[in-house]
Amino acid sequence: MLSKITWDTINAFECPGHFSRFPAGIAHNASDVVDALNKAIEISCTPGSKEERKAKTRHLSADNEPFAICHCTAFPDRLIVLSSIIELAWINDDVTEELEHKQSCVKHDILTNSMSLDNLVNAQIGQFNPRETLFGLLVQKACAMDPKAATKIVEVLANYFKTFDSSDEHFVSMAKYTPYRVANSGYWISSYFIRWGIDLTLTDAEYESIRDFDFSMGAVLGLTNDYFSWEVERGQETDRPRNAVPVLMKEYGVSDPIAKTLLKGIIMDEEEKACRLKQKVLESTDSVSPAVLQYIEAIELYVGGSCYWHATAPRYKVQQ
Ligand SMILES: [Mg+2]
Repeated sequence: MLSKITWDTINAFECPGHFSRFPAGIAHNASDVVDALNKAIEISCTPGSKEERKAKTRHLSADNEPFAICHCTAFPDRLIVLSSIIELAWINDDVTEELEHKQSCVKHDILTNSMSLDNLVNAQIGQFNPRETLFGLLVQKACAMDPKAATKIVEVLANYFKTFDSSDEHFVSMAKYTPYRVANSGYWISSYFIRWGIDLTLTDAEYESIRDFDFSMGAVLGLTNDYFSWEVERGQETDRPRNAVPVLMKEYGVSDPIAKTLLKGIIMDEEEKACRLKQKVLESTDSVSPAVLQYIEAIELYVGGSCYWHATAPRYKVQQ
């Protein structure tokens, strides 16, 4: 069982629009997270820009702070650092999703390069913009807080930048879209930081035992974002829409309200599948390790919390 000293459970089931079967919580230091993120946004966004407005809308109040909810289980000091790192990756996504695909890949490479202390120290003035510099410094801070995890932190983030936007394909089937969306939604970095937040390391064998469950939870996470963000995203200009609604419209030849309803059913089916896979893990051996049990508990709070946040976030109330 996870310690509940630093967070509380949220009664998400009373919230209209919330449909996840998983629980949700919120960290006690949510207002510190909001303050830290607003400082990071101030440093790293052009004043008055679209990305600044979007980022500020994500962090308006402590009781609806997405990182304090989704990563409620993290140690308080780690929560601040991991939230700032992921927020900057999120702002990068907001900026680059509107760029032409090739151009956005160049921007992802710059962020990857900023994670090296040597590159930061030896950079020409102007080589990294303020967002890239702050991102590099925050990664260095996380590495200094936990030197044994330093290599892995950089590896996980570098892999994210390499893969999350690696295709400009217009997907026409959910079978192809869903695996891409798991990486594209940032699930592999977020689930890594769920573990890092509680100083949890899974052995290769432990991770292998929950691999299918983890993938299924990633699908729920990515598709839940699609469900709630479609109304905002439908009008966006991009050469590579990343939402299951248009995929379902093409695959089944249906209109978007029908595709959205279909998507909700797919998410609920996937949640059911994740629960079956979890049960399989729990029944597979006589004693499942405490690390695996802790990860399952934390990732359920992440996925349940994400649905709750999307259902209540001002960001997704636009045009609805
Ligand atoms: Mg979205």
